[in-house]
Amino acid sequence: MNRPELERQDPILVKQYQEAQLAKVLQYVQENSPYYKRVFNERGIDIHTIKQLEDLLQLPVTTKNDLQQYNNDFLCVPIHKVIDYAVTSGSLGEPVTIMLTDNDLERLAYNEYLSLSCAGVKAGDIIQLMTTIDKRFMAGLAYFLGARKMGAGFIRQGSGALAMQWDAILRHKPNTLICVPSFVIPLLQYAVAKGIDYRNSGIKKLICIGENIRNPDFSLNNLGRRISEQWDVTLCSTYASTEMGCAFTECEQGRGGHHHPELLIIECLDENNMPVAPGEIGELTITTLEVEGMPLVRFKTGDLCSLHHEPCECGRTTTRISPILGRKQQLIKYKGTTLYPPGIFDVLNNIHFIRNYVVEAFTNEIGTDELIIHAGVEKYTVDYDHILIEHLRSRLRVTPKVLFRQPGEIDKMQFPDNNNRKPFLFIDRREAVV
Ligand SMILES: [Zn+2]
Repeated sequence: MNRPELERQDPILVKQYQEAQLAKVLQYVQENSPYYKRVFNERGIDIHTIKQLEDLLQLPVTTKNDLQQYNNDFLCVPIHKVIDYAVTSGSLGEPVTIMLTDNDLERLAYNEYLSLSCAGVKAGDIIQLMTTIDKRFMAGLAYFLGARKMGAGFIRQGSGALAMQWDAILRHKPNTLICVPSFVIPLLQYAVAKGIDYRNSGIKKLICIGENIRNPDFSLNNLGRRISEQWDVTLCSTYASTEMGCAFTECEQGRGGHHHPELLIIECLDENNMPVAPGEIGELTITTLEVEGMPLVRFKTGDLCSLHHEPCECGRTTTRISPILGRKQQLIKYKGTTLYPPGIFDVLNNIHFIRNYVVEAFTNEIGTDELIIHAGVEKYTVDYDHILIEHLRSRLRVTPKVLFRQPGEIDKMQFPDNNNRKPFLFIDRREAVV
């Protein structure tokens, strides 16, 4: 079966394809991965009994903690075969190094080629990258490799620097932007302030990374609406992680990120590592296919989402994933309500006087979760408290403490050492998060 055809195949054939691939992965890690060799041996696992996807339940899961603790034991090749060293963002604990071979870079390119195709990007299109491509960031490199494979032009502008972003847009005339969606707000504000005719700039599509633009029912959330009300562009969300070396990108129907079944086996698991019912929220758990350097078996990503299996109107039959509700570790129990940071971000993104923000969680004297929202505003007025509290109460049913600050101070909180690749929007100072 030709691989790209998989995404429109009967799910039964896709399952059979994945089961054949799974047998190869298990054989490969048993022979080459010091970590899995040890774990399978300690637990007396006979990989030949794992024939169907359902049999995966017999295998232990791999956690972020396992990957942090035994990082180099996951490498299946001699070090001289490693071409690229990528690290996870480290927003949750110690960063993990993911080492990629030449074949893994080819897989990454193929993944992003499929993802960009899914979002409707074609050969001859021009893409402007508004995130970093260096700093050991896998996604920036993946976009470049995918665009190259597709035959699309690629402008490596990088993050920030509004004037340079517009200079590149007006000079090179891209039609697609890859960006963090909240960055589009200051991008448009800058254009308005400088008299740039952004509506006729030729941009038709935004591929949105890192933040949700939709609610769990796939309607646009506050941020998505705020962008689309100002700008007639197609919004496609993309979700990826360094560990899986793979992306789930929406097609133009905007009904969740499409799975690439030739590159990952996915499960959605509950607290006890059992599958949740279709459509229920669980933790996305992945087994990588075709990875040579650091393959992962049943890796729990920490990201909570639901899976949707109905065929999409675009013609693809692959599973789609919902927007990420949050990271499992970032669950906040606050005044009798449970919250995830993205839900709080979406409220803040809808308030026009807030330029930027950081949400901080810590443990109070009685050992429960406490929240402070640091909101950056140009010129504070007393109305702001009232407006913000009303928005928070109506959406979240609780009202965290709010501190208004200068946007420059918030910038320093978001980029504490000036070296992080993405802004820290959530700072977790809680003790013993479990
Ligand atoms: Zn679709």
